[in-house]
Amino acid sequence: MRILVSNDDGIYSPGLRALARAAAQYGDVRIVAPDVENSAQAHAITSTRPLRIKRTHVDDFDAWRVDGTPADCVALGTHLWDSIDLVLSGINLGLNIGNSIWHSGTLAAARQAVLLGYRGIALSTSTTDGEPDFDALTESVNQVLSLLVHSLEHQLLNVNIPPGARGVRWCRQSVRHYDGRVIPAETPYGERVYWFGVKPIEAVDHHTDRAAISEGYMSITPLHLDLTDHEALESAAAATSS
Ligand code: MN
Repeated sequence: MRILVSNDDGIYSPGLRALARAAAQYGDVRIVAPDVENSAQAHAITSTRPLRIKRTHVDDFDAWRVDGTPADCVALGTHLWDSIDLVLSGINLGLNIGNSIWHSGTLAAARQAVLLGYRGIALSTSTTDGEPDFDALTESVNQVLSLLVHSLEHQLLNVNIPPGARGVRWCRQSVRHYDGRVIPAETPYGERVYWFGVKPIEAVDHHTDRAAISEGYMSITPLHLDLTDHEALESAAAATSS
């Protein structure tokens, strides 16, 4: 099995190394990841300049760093390496639940895989207790990979792993509006700047990734590429035909 590993935290992230080590139990691993952090860059691609790819060292893995986005890395990695079976992205330093799915570069790398005809799995962990202890997460990561690596029926999966997880829950994406608060500040030079915050508004959100994590479980959410609101489409089509 050939597994391409990428992320959005950058090639030297401890989360990437932890994922590559876990993935190596299933076959040949190659790492192609951004040379610097690309968190919250979502599914951006680099289309106005060429990309550069350089050989580097991540443990003993065949690793390459790219001056591009997570989606660029997966596009390049799948182009340069034949017959990939699976693309893994992460392990992100920070959960990707609910609306984070829209902003996440980790998720975008997995989604880029699916757009190119491969299976993609995004994995993230929380940083609320400080720097994640990836050694302590090993058992959970192995549990989730053993469940998902060969599950061919799922094209795109979003996985979140809290520390000390009690098990796995398949669940839907939490959807909450957020306040989109903008906080003005000043640089040491007196320049006015703005911080953008995304504090969720609604508190309770049952049977979702957010609920699973808050109850101490790993969340697995199958996603699809089709963003169509099928209910709205059906009612619009019905109204048009009547
Ligand atoms: Mn990140």
